[in-house]
Amino acid sequence: MKNTSPLLLVVEDDPQFRSLLTTTLENQNYSVIAISTGRDGLVEVRSQRPNLLILDLGLPDIDGQTLICRLRTWTDLPIIVLSARNQESDITLALDNGADDYLTKPFNTAELLSRIRALLRRTAKLPNAIQEIFQVDDLKVDLTKRQVFVAEKEIHLTPIEFNLLSILVRNAGFVVTHRQLLEKIWGVSYIEHSHYLRIYMRQLRQKLEIDCARPRYLLTEAGIGYRLYAGEN
Ligand code: CA
Repeated sequence: MKNTSPLLLVVEDDPQFRSLLTTTLENQNYSVIAISTGRDGLVEVRSQRPNLLILDLGLPDIDGQTLICRLRTWTDLPIIVLSARNQESDITLALDNGADDYLTKPFNTAELLSRIRALLRRTAKLPNAIQEIFQVDDLKVDLTKRQVFVAEKEIHLTPIEFNLLSILVRNAGFVVTHRQLLEKIWGVSYIEHSHYLRIYMRQLRQKLEIDCARPRYLLTEAGIGYRLYAGEN
């Protein structure tokens, strides 16, 4: 029988951590290739075409951030960064460079596995079949008709509010950084204007959330960006 389990590539230079990660993933029936350097990582991505990359940032040869940039010049391979670096600036940079998700060490195994499943699920639907209707709990967004409903009541959004929401919908469950949002909505010359985002996010929450102080859908990732709640994994 042909082996159809997703192939995960782990790039991690710490041997103990690499072997722990490999065992954990193989126990979940993933096929795993685990290697220790960025250069080998690039080779494996090209030759093995893995379904997902789990990447450490502190590598002996190429920095993980550089590796993400290089990969993003030619591939949309899903990337989860797993790093001891826990500064907001490192996390934001990795996401801005094109990583899909970020977990800090020490990591929670259940959380890592759930992020992997979510990312594989999302990419299985791409590239053609981005669902045009998104629904989670009482929130429903029709991207084609540009309609938004909360508990079946249609909510009127301004064009900018809708653009902001639709970017989050297309990345539901994953963080979108301030920079990515500012660049997509207002353009590259506005990437410093994060107060624009705060204003529009507040308006959007007032329209979509029951309690803006404790948002259910439009979640803040402090210092990094926003994540649209996509339901339990
Ligand atoms: Ca390392």
